[in-house]
Amino acid sequence: MPTVNQNSLRPTTMAPRRVKYVRRLDQVEQLSPEQRDRLGPVTARYVFRANDYYLGLIDWDDPDDPIRQLIIPREEELAEWGTLDASNEESVTVAHGVQHKYTDTVLLLCNEVCGAYCRYCFRKRLFMDDNDEVTNDVSEGLRYIADHPEVTNVLLTGGDPLLMSTRRLVEIFEALRAIPHVKIIRLGSKMPAFDPYRVLNDPDLQAAFRTYSTPTQRIYLMAHFDHPRELTDVAIQGIDACIRNGVICLNQCPMIKGINDDPHVLADMYATLSYIGCPPYYLFQGRPTAGNEPYEIPIVQGWQTFQRALTLGSGLARRARLCMSHETGKIEIMGVDDEHMYLRYHQAKHDEDLGRFLVCRRDDEAYWFDQLEVVTHAPSHV
Ligand code: SF4
Repeated sequence: MPTVNQNSLRPTTMAPRRVKYVRRLDQVEQLSPEQRDRLGPVTARYVFRANDYYLGLIDWDDPDDPIRQLIIPREEELAEWGTLDASNEESVTVAHGVQHKYTDTVLLLCNEVCGAYCRYCFRKRLFMDDNDEVTNDVSEGLRYIADHPEVTNVLLTGGDPLLMSTRRLVEIFEALRAIPHVKIIRLGSKMPAFDPYRVLNDPDLQAAFRTYSTPTQRIYLMAHFDHPRELTDVAIQGIDACIRNGVICLNQCPMIKGINDDPHVLADMYATLSYIGCPPYYLFQGRPTAGNEPYEIPIVQGWQTFQRALTLGSGLARRARLCMSHETGKIEIMGVDDEHMYLRYHQAKHDEDLGRFLVCRRDDEAYWFDQLEVVTHAPSHV
């Protein structure tokens, strides 16, 4: 372990609580034997994982409870729909567990487990037995990053990097800080929602945040809260512990049917996120991923919901952009009128697309960019 600066902010710890993980539906006592039997084929295809803290947020008397929708499988997932790699991440994989799509940012897929499995996950393929896209050995990725001085941001993802041991995380932080052009380390994590005790119970992790998130080279937590009920007192303390130990926090999540596709729910969550110092960054249109049909909503409907939510909050609660993480780039949905939809490449796989403005024919049934008819394709002005 490297030396920790003892003059930094003091750790935020609380009485330790060990969260208990479950991988089988028969460990969820609130489900009836008949429900477990019906859902067996679903979990045989798309794995289930949860923990007692998160299951404890469910109102089991409400069959439509949003936390339940997020974590408990549904038979409709077996409908044929979408593909396992909807954004073709394979095409930007430059080495084992390393993705490089946007010039300044590299992704290290360094862990293949999450604190629980969101039913709508766009990377559920990583949790399947025959998948080999993730590697805990990041040495190849570190060499790639060191050889590419244009890379200023590295996102640790997977899976969830905060499920890795603190010792391993510290090794990665240290290795990245030895590469001078890497300024920002991002942690893409839903652990603040699934298990806030992961940060709160671990003074060594908090010390690592203080050491490796410096005034000129920050660690960013890209948190993933989907619903205001996930923002429990403990979750807020978890975010506070990150902030107090030098981590900048932002939130990104998809818009998911039955969970946050309501302007008041979204606005409520955005308001709280702004109050606690974890403002909204991206709201994603759900990717057409296999198994995700019950969770998706059409683009136009999502845009309307998002717009209404934005009218209900302060400026800091309206900083999110609604984007599609498409194979060709992050395509922002900027507007919709009676006839057209107005899109813009916020990020692009190919430089010539960056900033490109697109006008598409309005299609209220479309779920994804590939279903839209582009009528005007203005050149990039970047
Ligand atoms: S936290 Fe992210 S990667 Fe993990 S299951 Fe949820 S959506 Fe997938």
